[in-house]
Amino acid sequence: MTAQDLIKNEANMVIEEFKKLTYTNSVEVLCDYNNDLNNFKNLPENFSFKKNKSDGHEKLAQMLIDGYNSLKADIKKQYKMEFFKNIEKRCPFCGQLLESSGKADSDVPTADLDHFFPKCDFPQFALFPPNLIPTCMECNRIEKHTDKISPKEFKLALQELNLLNDFQNHPNKRTHFRIYSSLSFDCNNKLFIKTTNIYVQKLIKLYGLEERYNNIRNKSFQILWGMVRNFDIQSPESLENFLKNMASSNWHEINDGYSLNNSPQIWQEFIENILYDECKLMALWEEVKSINMSIF
Ligand SMILES: [Zn+2]
Repeated sequence: MTAQDLIKNEANMVIEEFKKLTYTNSVEVLCDYNNDLNNFKNLPENFSFKKNKSDGHEKLAQMLIDGYNSLKADIKKQYKMEFFKNIEKRCPFCGQLLESSGKADSDVPTADLDHFFPKCDFPQFALFPPNLIPTCMECNRIEKHTDKISPKEFKLALQELNLLNDFQNHPNKRTHFRIYSSLSFDCNNKLFIKTTNIYVQKLIKLYGLEERYNNIRNKSFQILWGMVRNFDIQSPESLENFLKNMASSNWHEINDGYSLNNSPQIWQEFIENILYDECKLMALWEEVKSINMSIF
């Protein structure tokens, strides 16, 4: 049985439990719930469940969230394995490589399960497989302000990012679920969102991804300085060669548990921004010189 089926079973068990409770509007609550699940792929402009705030709705919402919170670790592991079955294990939000965990389950990526539609705002999707996205822990921790984006704006953003089709497929086929490919750095190392689509820009802001991306860039910068200190760089030419090697090599150095390979796209852009700008290269050389001088 697939992990998706196991999660659906859990949801069905919650529904059966709910049916045993006596809420006068139980039928309406279940109808709203089913309506939203059926319309998930089409993202209706207003989710039924969100509009209603009765005792019955609140009870089912809590039961679904509790159901997710008590979901067995084995099911979550299996789900992550299935999600990344034929694709590279990268966080779909920031692009960072999701390292595999310890020896016992060496193929399971170290990832959290993020609710794309947060479970506090959209409890009806708390135990709904298409809404579960394995991400890096840092991206999962970001507080997502989805209350500030309407389902209609969501839909337009996802359409632009080509994510709607992915939601319609089995998780194993979500090969295009990559929000990070919309983020980049310009030649001044300033972050920018590649798309001009205002809904995508809004989604990226409300998901806190700019800050996340900047943090990764700063980490890359720290690593660069750490390496510059350890290499014997005596001239602008040797600095240039050093950077060229950095851009093309397969670096595995781990710095505080962080590998440069984790975010090759950011790293590559970062190095190339310096490498192909004479002014920046010379400015960096001046800094390297001052570091060399301070060592002696
Ligand atoms: Zn991430």
